[in-house]
Amino acid sequence: MNHEEILQSVVKCNNSKIVLIVMDGIGDIRNRDYHYKTPLEYAKTPNLDKLASESVVGRMIPVSLGITPGSGPGHLGLFGYDPMDVTIGRGVLEAVGLDLQLRDGDVAARCNFATMDDNGLIVDRRAGRIPTEKTIELCNILKSIKEIDGVEIIIEPGEGHRFVTLFRSKDKKIDSLINDTDPQVEGKTPLEAKGQNDASKFLASVVNEFIRQGFELLSNHTSTNAFLTRGFSKKPTLPSMREKYCLESAAIAAYPMYRGIASLLGMKLLKAPKSIAGLFETYIENRQKYDFFFIHVKGTDQAGEDGDFESKVGCIEKVDKALPILLKNRPDVIAVTGDHSSPCPMRSHSFHPVPALVNGEFSGRDDVVCFNENACNVGGLGFFESKYLMTLLLANGKRLNKFGA
Ligand SMILES: [Zn+2]
Repeated sequence: MNHEEILQSVVKCNNSKIVLIVMDGIGDIRNRDYHYKTPLEYAKTPNLDKLASESVVGRMIPVSLGITPGSGPGHLGLFGYDPMDVTIGRGVLEAVGLDLQLRDGDVAARCNFATMDDNGLIVDRRAGRIPTEKTIELCNILKSIKEIDGVEIIIEPGEGHRFVTLFRSKDKKIDSLINDTDPQVEGKTPLEAKGQNDASKFLASVVNEFIRQGFELLSNHTSTNAFLTRGFSKKPTLPSMREKYCLESAAIAAYPMYRGIASLLGMKLLKAPKSIAGLFETYIENRQKYDFFFIHVKGTDQAGEDGDFESKVGCIEKVDKALPILLKNRPDVIAVTGDHSSPCPMRSHSFHPVPALVNGEFSGRDDVVCFNENACNVGGLGFFESKYLMTLLLANGKRLNKFGA
């Protein structure tokens, strides 16, 4: 038996409440310009530190040693779906993030408006980053293309110059093994869509016809007269959190991609106000209705990617300040961690393990009395892969039977 099979054989339902707080990209490295501290070490976090003193802490490896994950694999690991086995295509992520309901067999593509010159060369791959309102207007024009060769075309505007196209076939099989039509550089023509097997070759012909008709409809709109397609993908078949863990789960996340992953795993999407206090208040309001809450904080990752140490510190302090809202109606199990590290000096995601904290009546506590990377290095959880976190949280929530006699 492997871990997954054992887990399936011991998991049980009860009423315990589990909250997972994900500070996106929280992990960092010590920074020369700030007295050789990490943002977590530099920030004033009395509430997180107190929680750490009552908890067991450690470091989590998001995917595998030395591997820098995107937020997609990073989150799949947190939810206990092995990111080395499961992939979710970008088109699907974008589609579910826009609250599109995907059916089995649907193929989704990320699209963006672009500018093409008289010779058919792409001169701006993002059409001058047009505002969302303009994208909505252009999508309404494209929506007159409803069906090509028995494949329904569903168009949904996203943020800025982006939109999503969903291809839904009535009876012919379609597949997503199709290249991007985005040439990646300016000064080239869009690429022709080509498929790798019969089902994707058929869909590629539909895509090319969709692009031809679409460009014709946009031909009067000189600066937004083209669009590029990327990330063709099919809805993956994954067990839901209910099937896998017997958890009624909910996501409190504002950004499309995280909402998208959560909804693919069967989480209910709750309102996610802009303020961090608001995220915790949504938990309080819905506490009775769900067993598991995923609360996503985006600011830490944005600051890390901008190399903005002080803004990362500020976001951490906001989480700390809002934490008492959650603690006043304390869940049985609390985890605080991240999906990956985004160190300010690197201005990008990185391979570094993330600090992790698990708190509950039965979590035990170690000698660590503050929550940061270096303190977590010596915590009772040691170093472990993110994909085991959910098992640990279920165990702390007394949701696992004994394995074997
Ligand atoms: Zn992330």
